[in-house]
Amino acid sequence: MIDVLNNGKFSHGAKVAELERALEQWTGARHVVAVDSGTDALVLLLRAAGLRPGDEVIVPAYSFIATASSVVLAGGVPVFADIEEGGHGLDPAAADAAVTPRTRMIMPVHLFDRTADLRGAADVARRHGLTLVEDSAEAIGMRATAAPGAPAAHPGPTAATGAHAGLAGAGGVLSFFPAKTLGAIGDAGAVLTDDDAVAETVRMLCHHGRGGRTVDHFPGIANPTVVPGRNGKMDDVQAAVLLGKLARLDADIARRADLAARYDARLRGLPGVRRVPGDVPPHPGTGRVVYVYLVEVEDRDALAAHLAARGVGTEVYYPRPLHLQPCFAHLRHRTGDFPRAEAACAAALALPLYPDLPDADADRVCDEIEAFYAGRGTAR
Ligand SMILES: *Cc1c(COP(=O)(O)O)cnc(C)c1O
Repeated sequence: MIDVLNNGKFSHGAKVAELERALEQWTGARHVVAVDSGTDALVLLLRAAGLRPGDEVIVPAYSFIATASSVVLAGGVPVFADIEEGGHGLDPAAADAAVTPRTRMIMPVHLFDRTADLRGAADVARRHGLTLVEDSAEAIGMRATAAPGAPAAHPGPTAATGAHAGLAGAGGVLSFFPAKTLGAIGDAGAVLTDDDAVAETVRMLCHHGRGGRTVDHFPGIANPTVVPGRNGKMDDVQAAVLLGKLARLDADIARRADLAARYDARLRGLPGVRRVPGDVPPHPGTGRVVYVYLVEVEDRDALAAHLAARGVGTEVYYPRPLHLQPCFAHLRHRTGDFPRAEAACAAALALPLYPDLPDADADRVCDEIEAFYAGRGTAR
């Protein structure tokens, strides 16, 4: 980062390209295009993957708001479907039932510590001729590792084995929001794709709509602007920071796994704690990278208040399902439309988890949770 500050090349510098190449290596993606946020990465990906005005995109009703707002910002219409029984990812059967003649894409989201049912989503995409894109903003390091007998490299959408999250279909994204597994010191994101044309279009769109292969069609015009684009580039200070942190990403992920195992062991079976992540096996052939450690508990809000009063910060992911957000009121959904998404919103609590968290602090979080339920005499 000091290099960048010294040479004053804060934009169009060398660090962004260096980061893109390093991330291509780390993820195995053919192309990584660095942009200014995970949300913008989603908007650019959707446009580059061929979303047209009014096209429907099937998304889970339980996710971060950007999953659905990016569809609107790209000119499309989000169509919600419920999450899978026992998990937090898009339910392929529900997605299948949500397909209409206007559906163009399906966008599963990989939340917290594992990939969604990508094979299921790819099946729905194939049967209905949809484009598969992934909100893999949280999913750096998550892979659908090769199942026994499956090839290590990913051969395409139907066998999402071995590939980094985001590469099962037309592409995916990464968010480098500071709290994410690989976090910048401000907002930053990336599109990852194995598709040359998608990568080139994203590059063009995030750079004022300039350049790319289309330049050849406009001989004699320097830097032709071929579509009105935006300025969505990543800046070099963020790229330099991310390059530094990428070097210890494997160690950070390992530390996150240790902490998650510690929480699992302490919290499993505790009265009031309905479910710890370790109780839910990941989809066959996939592994876990713990970005968020999310428990499902009784009396969630009271527990969160109890913990806050004792200096333990928690987060509610996500407080409100997407279909009940005011910005989607015109879609006329009501409570009860997606009961699994609604139940997840009511019970979910994310416990502190970051590589620098000392074991003793994780233990204290568990002590406080234990004390809370013991004090309430919860015995379910
Ligand atoms: C973080 C996140 C985003 C958005 O990323 P930003 O970099 O914050 O814009 C999108 N989708 C999901 C699921 C996320 O967790």
